[in-house]
Amino acid sequence: MAVPILDLARSFGEIKPEVFATLEKIFDAQSFILGAYVKDFETHCEKYLELPEGSAIACASGTDALLLALMACDIKPGDEVITTPFTFFATSGTIARLGAKPVYVDVDPVSYNINLDQALNKITSKTKVFLPVHLFGQMCELEKVLQEFHGKGLKVVEDAAQAFGSCRILDEGKRIDRAGTVGDIGCYSFFPTKNLGGCGDGGMVVTKDLTLAERLKKLRVHGSGTTYYHEEVGINSRLDSIQAAILDIKLKHLAEWTEQRRKAADYYRLLFTAQGLQEFITLPTETEGNVHIYHQYVIRVKDKRDELMRFLNDNGFAVRVYYPLSLHLQPCFKYLGYKEGDFPVSEMLTREVLALPIFPGLEATEQEALVENVGKFFKQ
Ligand SMILES: *Cc1c(COP(=O)(O)O)cnc(C)c1O
Repeated sequence: MAVPILDLARSFGEIKPEVFATLEKIFDAQSFILGAYVKDFETHCEKYLELPEGSAIACASGTDALLLALMACDIKPGDEVITTPFTFFATSGTIARLGAKPVYVDVDPVSYNINLDQALNKITSKTKVFLPVHLFGQMCELEKVLQEFHGKGLKVVEDAAQAFGSCRILDEGKRIDRAGTVGDIGCYSFFPTKNLGGCGDGGMVVTKDLTLAERLKKLRVHGSGTTYYHEEVGINSRLDSIQAAILDIKLKHLAEWTEQRRKAADYYRLLFTAQGLQEFITLPTETEGNVHIYHQYVIRVKDKRDELMRFLNDNGFAVRVYYPLSLHLQPCFKYLGYKEGDFPVSEMLTREVLALPIFPGLEATEQEALVENVGKFFKQ
């Protein structure tokens, strides 16, 4: 048996005729950048995320979404941005590119998300933005700290690149906080492997502050409100019609695909529990109130993580490590002066985490075979 970490072909099959019919229209029209397809996709995202009209701004990637968000928060050299060291590089890369300083806070060993209490303690006179990540598709409990950050005059930018559609159900179901819509600006990625992924690069920023939204719209086209007149220096970061049209088709299936991911996560739990492997591995959990979308299903392996990974890979199961090196220990961030031991939980996770295949169309038999092999490895 060969089980890939992600097989996009399985869900693409469902939408292929619709995608190809739409592509034909786009090629006939020969209109490729921004335009009606992008506008429609933005509108549909606003509806999906229950945001006001005009609050979604599509751009060229998740990285650009973060960059645009930080530019709209006026991040300048010397500013500090409080963030997590246990995430994909782009979260910190964009801070550094603007000359600002990533200030790290360790993560929680259960949710893998940034420790919110510790984040509050890191605020200094130079702090401008708090940039948490909703890692692997599970939201941080932002409602607990939002007012404190705002009270200190800081902006909250959410890296929701892995969490489109993830939410927290609060006040006995009376309120739903959706990832990316709680802070001042939310950032999404539509990189092909994300839970809402295109057939190329893509991203989006959202904000309920429509004045800020207007500024973000200008920033994505070189700071220009009227073509060839520039109020400030922006970047070139536009989504194209082809990506927008494909993403718009995929968005219609997202709720159903998310449900499949959640069912697969439940089934992993059932299978691992039946194998009695609790002493060797820790399963991911859902924080109270959360609807985890399982962008990744990441277990922790106390000992022999790398040996288990090799064993599974050799037997046809593609499992991966996200992420093998905490950002505070990356060579490019040496100048920040962090050292090993500064963020023990993040460092522990880099040694213990293992991502298992999870995607729409993953078969129960594939999950069964994988878990059986994990059992074989520990009990042999
Ligand atoms: C993927 C990702 C990004 C960057 O998105 P791109 O579209 O690849 O530029 C940023 N942050 C996190 C947490 C991500 O997973």
